[in-house]
Amino acid sequence: KKSAAQNSIIQPDFKFEDMGIGGLDSEFSAIFRRAFASRIFPPNLVEKLGIQHVKGILLFGPPGTGKTLMARQIGKMLNAREPKIVNGPEILNKYVGQSEENIRKLFAEAEKEYKDKGEDSGLHIIIFDELDAICKQRGSKNDGTGVGDSIVNQLLAKMDGVEQLNNILIIGMTNRLDMIDEALLRPGRLEVHMEIGLPDEGGRMQILKIHTSKMRTNNIMDSDVDLNELASLTKNFSGAEINGLVKSASSFAFNRHVKVGTLSGVTPDMENMKVNRNDFLSALD
Ligand code: ATP
Repeated sequence: KKSAAQNSIIQPDFKFEDMGIGGLDSEFSAIFRRAFASRIFPPNLVEKLGIQHVKGILLFGPPGTGKTLMARQIGKMLNAREPKIVNGPEILNKYVGQSEENIRKLFAEAEKEYKDKGEDSGLHIIIFDELDAICKQRGSKNDGTGVGDSIVNQLLAKMDGVEQLNNILIIGMTNRLDMIDEALLRPGRLEVHMEIGLPDEGGRMQILKIHTSKMRTNNIMDSDVDLNELASLTKNFSGAEINGLVKSASSFAFNRHVKVGTLSGVTPDMENMKVNRNDFLSALD
């Protein structure tokens, strides 16, 4: 009989390079070893060890570094149900007065499936983006409305309840680790913490390759573009900023081909358009 743990083992044909995420291989391996290794062991071994699966992880680091991409890929890697993504500020603003009810609803589907199917249930992932917004350290620095408090309390209650449920994984994400309520970070809650920092030069090279892969396979990138050079020129860029750079270089290339009057009906000659080194340098500028 399969268990929820076995239903969610790493996909056998899973490859890092197919994920469309650059520069985070070691973070992925580490998170797998620290958070998910128990899920590929036979359930009876896990039982014999007397351990429980990790129920929650926290990804933290600067904006645009791939936390959301990573959270989604973790879901795929674990063969989980389509993750539910909730946004901290949205919960706070949209659901004032009914926040507890909304947290309850988030868990309801997974709880029901576990009740119906027990260990045969699939894995459910709930992703909390901008978690800091709802947990500005209870009691101290919050906004005075107490709304954040009650959401955090409800979340804690749910996470503690999750202990009996093998089929829920919570992924919290934040740019502000210092704002996260410590109670949420304890073992049994968001217990594995992983920093997703800015990419190094090798990482930037991988990200550049990912975001230029279409223009390269379609032969729309000029041979004078040297990705190694761009990787070294983009120090301190996040993955999102590198993505923005590629888009911006494309629009410089477009602009070189758009003549006055084009927008009023003349079709520009895009046949021979290529994005060249200069477009990238203008975009960098
Ligand atoms: P935030 O903290 O602002 O929510 P985030 O860390 O969750 O940001 P993502 O939403 O995952 O960042 O990234 C935004 C976009 O930037 C992605 O959709 C992708 O296009 C690009 N990107 C960011 N990091 C990477 C990466 N490591 N590899 C490839 N693309 C990336």
